[in-house]
Amino acid sequence: MQTALKNSSNKATFDVSRIRADFPILETLVHGKPLVYLDNGASTQKPQVVIDRISNFYAHQYANVHRGVHFLSQEATIHYEKARRDTICAYLGGVDEKEVIFTRGTTESINLVASSFGEQFVSAGDEIIVSGMEHHSNIVPWQMLCEKKQATLRVIPVLDNGELDFFAYKKLLNPKVKLVCVVHISNALGTINPVQEMIQEAHAQGIPVLVDGAQAVPHQKVNVKELDCDFYAFSGHKLFGPTGIGILYGKEKWLAAMPPYQGGGDMIRSVSFEKTTYNDLPHKFEAGTPHIEGALGLACAIEYVSALDWDLVAKHEHELLVHVTDELQKIPEVRIIGTAEKKAAVVSFVVDGVHPHDIGTFLDREGIAIRAGHHCAQLVMERFCVPATVRASFAFYNTHDEVEILVAGIKKVVGFFK
Ligand code: PMP
Repeated sequence: MQTALKNSSNKATFDVSRIRADFPILETLVHGKPLVYLDNGASTQKPQVVIDRISNFYAHQYANVHRGVHFLSQEATIHYEKARRDTICAYLGGVDEKEVIFTRGTTESINLVASSFGEQFVSAGDEIIVSGMEHHSNIVPWQMLCEKKQATLRVIPVLDNGELDFFAYKKLLNPKVKLVCVVHISNALGTINPVQEMIQEAHAQGIPVLVDGAQAVPHQKVNVKELDCDFYAFSGHKLFGPTGIGILYGKEKWLAAMPPYQGGGDMIRSVSFEKTTYNDLPHKFEAGTPHIEGALGLACAIEYVSALDWDLVAKHEHELLVHVTDELQKIPEVRIIGTAEKKAAVVSFVVDGVHPHDIGTFLDREGIAIRAGHHCAQLVMERFCVPATVRASFAFYNTHDEVEILVAGIKKVVGFFK
């Protein structure tokens, strides 16, 4: 895929129209207007190659994996394991296939760790650290664990600009802490957290770290080896891949010491009524028939994004963020929530006197898809004293024209509700 072009001044530019041609849904008309899809934080759209990969599997290659001696089952197993070994392991920075577990998504990945790591390593009186900007998926499983084990949940405060209070974080680290759980990029604020530094601080005290990467993978390349995180969770559907599939990366030393998450087929080596022995990693954590086409579709999406020039993607997305921020700041009724120095192309805002849901409905009539609500981050809304926000979340296929359409839509909203 050729996405880097030289313009007249010989600088590399990002060819958005070429990228957009890979995503058929972007041609959709909504209420007679061209779709302006700015809800990528909730889920991203799929390139044709991913759609084709899944339908090709159903049409020509379909069978269950890890079971049959027949041709199709063996082929399906090869494709499924190749997706893990050759594509996903490489994408994460060259990790071992034992360390990559297929799950249903970020939520299940985190629940797996809460349940299994929690069972083995957390006891009464221990502490788990989360941050004040977590998605509910990275709070509730830890609350449930703390309740079960009589452990305590500690929270890293969020500063007024939407950054984490790093000094407060350092003070929270102590020998009772069994795990730090932190979001890489906030879905509600767009903040890019300094996870590498946070991991170093925790590791200096022997504390492992789980990173919620749900919003990071669509915006940047992630190398879990460089980060040195102990666990990294993400969802396929936010990475231009299918729904219902996700990844839990975990260091082998932890996964090997953790009990299985669910019991069933595929996760066992042998079963008797007296004693069951468990399968090797990663299968120990993959009970039952997996989402085979999801794994293939995810690998295909990863191959697609891996072929992009990520310096150009980052530049393009940053320019979109600067453009939308500058224009929204010119509207006196608009207040942006989350002004961290390091942000992904996500802008959350409120408009004086207009409920975010009304804005969402109004913009929808203009063909603009944004998210209005608490974004499964009620504690972030509470922190900033708002019930909800409007969130425009961009992907590399969005354009500056779409920024202008959004801004014009917001100006219409302001005029309409005056
Ligand atoms: N964490 C973050 C930061 C998210 O944005 C989301 C999805 N909005 C999740 C976790 C949960 O992801 P999923 O619903 O795909 O499991």
